[in-house]
Amino acid sequence: MRIPCPHCGLRGHEEFAYLGDATLRRPDPAAPDAERAFAEYAYRRDNPAGRHRELWYHAQGCGTWLVVERDTLTHEIGRVTEAREQGGS
Ligand SMILES: [Zn+2]
Repeated sequence: MRIPCPHCGLRGHEEFAYLGDATLRRPDPAAPDAERAFAEYAYRRDNPAGRHRELWYHAQGCGTWLVVERDTLTHEIGRVTEAREQGGS
């Protein structure tokens, strides 16, 4: 699988570190149900079949965090943007 880094061009996935779901947001620690929300945030993850937005870090390249749209069935790569353009995670 090859990932098009906006800075380095098309690179092998071996150069990247995979973090996971790019759509998750850290729960509010002050919320009344914070303990349950953090347990779900840390341990309960979906395993979607199809298009998915994922966080990848170009560890052996430019060091940029990327949001990669990837089809988990075909590994087809869609849009790739810098994570900081997404409002952080
Ligand atoms: Zn790069």
